[in-house]
Amino acid sequence: MGEAKKIKIVDTTLRDGEQTAGVVFSNHEKIRIAKMLDDLGVDQIEAGIPIMGGHEKEAVKEICKLGLRASIMGWNRAVIGDIEASLECGVDAVAISISTSDIHIEHKLRSTRQKVLEDMVKATEFAKKHGVYVSVNAEDASRSDPEFLIEFARAAKEAGADRLRYCDTVGILDPFTTYERVKDLIEKVGIEVEMHTHNDFGMATANALAGVRAGATWVGVTVIGLGERAGNAALEEVVMALKYLMGIDLNFKTEKFREIAEYVSLASKRELPAWKPIVGSNMFAHESGIHADGTLKHPRTYEVFCPEEVGLERQIVIGKHSGTSAIKAKFTEYGIKLTDEEAKEILERVRKAAVELKRPLFDKELVYIYEDYIHEKKENTAIG
Ligand code: MN
Repeated sequence: MGEAKKIKIVDTTLRDGEQTAGVVFSNHEKIRIAKMLDDLGVDQIEAGIPIMGGHEKEAVKEICKLGLRASIMGWNRAVIGDIEASLECGVDAVAISISTSDIHIEHKLRSTRQKVLEDMVKATEFAKKHGVYVSVNAEDASRSDPEFLIEFARAAKEAGADRLRYCDTVGILDPFTTYERVKDLIEKVGIEVEMHTHNDFGMATANALAGVRAGATWVGVTVIGLGERAGNAALEEVVMALKYLMGIDLNFKTEKFREIAEYVSLASKRELPAWKPIVGSNMFAHESGIHADGTLKHPRTYEVFCPEEVGLERQIVIGKHSGTSAIKAKFTEYGIKLTDEEAKEILERVRKAAVELKRPLFDKELVYIYEDYIHEKKENTAIG
């Protein structure tokens, strides 16, 4: 996968991300997020659902007025009125969404495959007539009859759609199945495909990458994977995985990943766990003696990329699992050069304290341990 293939990112933090149960952004927060996404390098921002009216429509309008580099997309059902509302906001792109799985067509839409095709074609032709970019979204594509999905994609292409959003709406795909299905679809229809994957089985990013390997050229993401239920493929995971696992560098300002992750986490009132891939505070924290020793000698021994690349800092944590080289390195930060013997003896005390406290030690505690150690050593020498 060495070739420099252009993959584009559409971020839907403001639409699918906000759709998460219990999440509401203020318009001020939405505008700030849109600016940050644009600055990062996102190609397209799905800004909201204009037909909802009120604050939602206002936010999309305001984002369109910012004059960002990124394309601004409005989300719509396959309904003319929805698309009119999007056009009123000044978007240059629309997502036109309709379900393609029988379970959705029968039980949610209470419609038929034929009617689904007609509604999608009508809406797409209307949008294209108004000169906007169109992504036709096959909702629940992953549970759709593959034959019908191909028929749907062909009809979308014929109606003028610029791409097809392949939605794994309930997150039931695995990377192997994704690869086969998307490859088949692209070969048979010849339409640009966007992967829109959900994380119900923890595979959203993996499935997005499998789609790219199969020929998809767009990936739909959200910051920190914010989204319904277990969330969507995370922006920071997809961009870094494309770069380091697939050799596709999108030239994003990745050093801002931690900052936008913190902001979206705050605005959505969703915690940012320490163990979060790419942006979690533990990504570059090393405690175990062997890891800390390796990292201090050469960071690439235990880090795939450097912390600054995603806006984090390396942290050598001193605790139960530390070794003497980390202890020495830590005290050097304070201008204290320990001998091997001193480092060994202090390490014993550090381990004892960490076990008692059930956590690593603060720098201040290390200083106390050092002072006590030196004090006792002097007394022993005096007595001796
Ligand atoms: Mn979704």
